[in-house]
Amino acid sequence: MNTTTDHLDVPAVTFDNRFVRELPRDPESSARRRQVLHAAWSAAAPTPVAAPRLLAHAPEVAALVGFSDTFVQSPAFANVFGGNALLPGMEPYAACYGGHQFGNWAGQLGDGRAITLGEVLNAHGERWELQLKGAGPTPYSRTADGRAVLRSSIREFLCSEAMHHLGVPTTRALSVVTTGDAVVRDMFYNGNAQEEPGAIVCRVAPSFIRFGNFEIFTARNDLALLAQLVDFTIARDYPHLASIADEMQRRATWYAEVCERTARLIVHWMRVGFVHGVMNTDNMSILGLTIDYGPYGWIDDFNPNWTPNTTDAQNRRYRFGQQPAIAQWNVVRLADAIAPLFADESLLQAGIDRFSAIYVAEYEAMNAAKFGFATRGEEERDCIREAFRLMYDAEIDYTNFFRALGNVPDVLPDVPATELLGDVFYDPARRDAHAEALHSWFSRWHARVLTHGRDFAQRQAAMHAVNPWFVLRNYVAQQAIDAATQGDASLVHTLLTVLRTPYTEQPQHAALVARRPEWARHKAGCSMLSCSS
Ligand code: AMP
Ligand code: MG
Repeated sequence: MNTTTDHLDVPAVTFDNRFVRELPRDPESSARRRQVLHAAWSAAAPTPVAAPRLLAHAPEVAALVGFSDTFVQSPAFANVFGGNALLPGMEPYAACYGGHQFGNWAGQLGDGRAITLGEVLNAHGERWELQLKGAGPTPYSRTADGRAVLRSSIREFLCSEAMHHLGVPTTRALSVVTTGDAVVRDMFYNGNAQEEPGAIVCRVAPSFIRFGNFEIFTARNDLALLAQLVDFTIARDYPHLASIADEMQRRATWYAEVCERTARLIVHWMRVGFVHGVMNTDNMSILGLTIDYGPYGWIDDFNPNWTPNTTDAQNRRYRFGQQPAIAQWNVVRLADAIAPLFADESLLQAGIDRFSAIYVAEYEAMNAAKFGFATRGEEERDCIREAFRLMYDAEIDYTNFFRALGNVPDVLPDVPATELLGDVFYDPARRDAHAEALHSWFSRWHARVLTHGRDFAQRQAAMHAVNPWFVLRNYVAQQAIDAATQGDASLVHTLLTVLRTPYTEQPQHAALVARRPEWARHKAGCSMLSCSS
């Protein structure tokens, strides 16, 4: 069983485990799968693994938590973050939550393979919850094993950090530890189960509370616990609202802020071309963070209908272009969940309205910034609409198109637009079919952008600050996974370096930003992913 590492040079981190201290616990402490009633969490110890070994870590996150490099490199670290030991002060638990999955109420879900170790209070007074993903079964594991495979752990680790450095709100990732144990997965649910290497990510966030944590109590008509969780969340995760004296007003203001944060999050996803893939309400963070990296992806060619998730291939509920509408549907589910606490539902309607108002305004401002427009009127809006149509029709790479646009000088060289844009086209036939329309759009955009009072250097800096040079394309992540599976983690480490400055061109790593090569168009992991992780 678990041992503490008291003989080791363990950093003096302070744990302050409010979730387990302030919210009711499940009286049973075994990992027997069950419905957990009248409780917000169950005690759940990580299940030890054969041979924990640190594959990669994010030094910035270690610093946030207060871990020295010596500790991170020590065997004690791999032991703790592989699930074989606890640090003094850790109180591991799994949270109880429910959720709407693909539009339907799914009942109790809960942390089936996530185990929170504790809440660290760092030297700056910040709270960081440490959570293992893949650390073995809990009461919420249902029929599954509580484990995670190396491929999905590398994907979660890299993408969490990539998103952070892109300026997108997200949970962070401290480490990936390989377990030395095999995990059996049927990657495409087609009867081809295989053994894969197991791994555990330690993710880090101020809070892992999801919309589903509230929904489950309402579904069970446990309204006292619902109120307790709402007030706990405000006190711990929204302390700036705690001073609002009127209880209902405080809760309504909190809900509106959740709506606003969620709207801003989706604007970021649309800006960088991120598709979450499984926007179930149990995967919606109460802090408006990107959470639960599963079959996510980045759009290569601009296509609002694209989803990376094969499990959703039929209905494409969670496709790129539908993310704003789904996020709104999800905040309405949260409103439904907390409505019993309100005498008057118009208090909640204000939050839902805030979602729409913020989304519309921020989305428009974001697009104007991507195109280099300092102000916007009807001409700018129309120019942007036409650009998206052309990007879709001519199958143009989203990320590289905007980067190319930012490099266009004040005096247009006398060459066709297709040449100025460079290697952003996936299909020469579609490029040629739209070459003329593109050229005339290009001249129109260029003429307009010059009227906005910025010189080339100013415009380029402004555009490059919102249009990333590097995003973690699926085919690139997959190459890092393939190599790591063969024992070579060097590309994981290279990517971890490159993703730290995603808005800065890094010519020595130009190969990592090339548009998706043809071989990757339909390859597993590159364009198709399932929930089987
Ligand atoms: P997800 O689709 O990954 O957000 O997961 C939905 C639910 O299934 C959550 O309650 C997870 O904890 C649970 N789950 C997913 N994978 C596993 C697994 N390998 N073992 C146990 N529970 C899992
Ligand atoms: Mg989830």
